[in-house]
Amino acid sequence: MSGKLYVVGTPIGNLSDMTPRAVETLKKVDFIAAEDTRVTLKLLNHFEIKNSLVSYYEHNRAQKGEQIVARILSGENCAVVSDAGMPCISDPGEDLVALCRAQGIAIEVVPGPTAAMSAVAVSGLSCSRFCFEGFLSTAKKSRFEHLEELKNESRTMIFYEAPHKLKATLADFKKYFGGERKISLCRELTKLHEEVLLISIDEAIAYYEQNDPRGEYVLVLEGAEKKKEELTLKDCLEIMLESVRSGKSKNDAARLCAKQSGFRKNELYKLLVDCEEEK
Ligand code: SAM
Repeated sequence: MSGKLYVVGTPIGNLSDMTPRAVETLKKVDFIAAEDTRVTLKLLNHFEIKNSLVSYYEHNRAQKGEQIVARILSGENCAVVSDAGMPCISDPGEDLVALCRAQGIAIEVVPGPTAAMSAVAVSGLSCSRFCFEGFLSTAKKSRFEHLEELKNESRTMIFYEAPHKLKATLADFKKYFGGERKISLCRELTKLHEEVLLISIDEAIAYYEQNDPRGEYVLVLEGAEKKKEELTLKDCLEIMLESVRSGKSKNDAARLCAKQSGFRKNELYKLLVDCEEEK
């Protein structure tokens, strides 16, 4: 009978965030597929876990993935972990999960912290709808295509960023989203120097002219304001006249049209009254 794959979350900085179930799982599986075996060995030592490790990272994942799947199919249980947080989230694991799914192998999640969710929760920005954008590419073309796609995104956006690229990213954010857009810079979450700054992109640029970016960052960016329909006053007049013809009061017609167009209700009401007086 085939074994199981366990997708195990590990702390993003604070070892006290390791769950008892993660410890128990890493103890009981037959082997652990780890992004960096040296990093995971430290974690295992801390929790007095003795188990065998195989390396599974970006550049060996095709070949290693097949080997890991073969071992699971032969009956061994495997846990996949990354250096920090949830595997598969901007980390290796996704392909292994897909391979196991394709083979009908049972997969269990042992959830742990993830920087993206932790950051959006403390960002101070809207958490009702958000999208995870991971790392921006350093290759100009795909980076700009990615930002262009997000220009009118109205959901809160979550990005991962390395400290040495932060200033360039803020400069690009200003180009695409404008300097007034709010951004929450969530740094070193769960660690000693945890810090969250909720400021505008312009303020963030000014701040990092004075302070060197240090540590790990999640950038949580406010979504774009939903665009009102682009209506002219002439369009509005037609809409309001139609509303009045269909039985609405002038007041209601102006109020509804103001919502739809972004023009002020009083201005629209006056336009409607003037037009009716001219008739
Ligand atoms: N799989 C991980 C997760 O679940 O969050 C993310 C791995 S990704 C390779 C590493 C990036 O996550 C960092 O560059 C940083 O953007 C973010 N990150 C990880 N730990 C963090 C922390 N403690 N505080 C802020 N950002 C963190």
